[in-house]
Amino acid sequence: MTPADSKIDAATRLFGVFGDPVGHSLSPVMHNAAFRTAGVNGAYLAFRITDIAEGVRAVRALNMRGVSVTIPHKVSVMPLLDALTPLARNIGAVNTITNDDGMLEGDNTDAKGAADALARQTDLNGKRVAILGAGGAARAVAFGVKEKGARVTILNRTVEKGESLAAALDAAFLPLTDLRPDRYEVLINTTPVGMTPRIDAMPLPETALAPGMVVMDIIYSPLRTRLLETAEQRGCIVVDGLGMFVGQGAAQFERWTGKPAPLAEMTRRVAEALTPS
Ligand code: NAP
Repeated sequence: MTPADSKIDAATRLFGVFGDPVGHSLSPVMHNAAFRTAGVNGAYLAFRITDIAEGVRAVRALNMRGVSVTIPHKVSVMPLLDALTPLARNIGAVNTITNDDGMLEGDNTDAKGAADALARQTDLNGKRVAILGAGGAARAVAFGVKEKGARVTILNRTVEKGESLAAALDAAFLPLTDLRPDRYEVLINTTPVGMTPRIDAMPLPETALAPGMVVMDIIYSPLRTRLLETAEQRGCIVVDGLGMFVGQGAAQFERWTGKPAPLAEMTRRVAEALTPS
């Protein structure tokens, strides 16, 4: 099936994203482009869901094949599902539901999305990786890079939250103010500092950025954050948040359809949607 042939008919499978808010979600653009490119008879919509239990009942009632789960439901959805992958259980959050003949499985593809995006720039095995933040995204990113053999240090503003994530990972913890540039080969910002509309903010002083460091910012609005701009000026290799976003979507697409994800087209369509016209 080519894009021109795409149609909705009685065999079309329904997919979607459940969250609140979802009005600005880029997932429908990305997944529908992937379906068209790969010839999958599917339709993907954004659903604003306030009661996640009702949402999960709808997945069963409508026989939806797959659902992306986003804020604020990534944790509360877990007990409503029939099975969890070990990774989702370890991370403590689900971003992907797959419906296999009525059996709903929860997985977490954020971890793979982030680790694969970074691994395209550097071999993570044995690397010292500093992760700024200890929220939901940090958990997924930290488990993902650890699976690739990285030695992780969590740096967080709130000490108890940072210590608790570090303990779950068997990783080190430092307060955010103790970041020293000579100690890490890779630095990942998972805090929202620098996100639209406060685009002039930086999560760390620029002296914390050393030449040759790989610096990833998982923020994708804007794509080019002040952190990445500064890091590039200081001779670092930079990785933006698009790779993680498309990577988690590509892993969902492959789980749902059994086909290789059309990564280039998915990236192109999301980048286009992020570019102000
Ligand atoms: P979250 O659960 O609210 O966690 C936010 C973390 O950032 C917390 O550890 C918090 O520290 C820290 N933080 C917040 N404001 C801070 C500040 N002013 N100074 C220092 N630290 C601060 O949020 P999340 O769900 O992890 O999302 C974080 C970011 O990741 C968002 O920008 C989101 O858009 C992005 N994201 C991107 C992708 C992608 O695919 N690229 C996927 C998921 C999320 P405390 O513990 O001290 O509060």
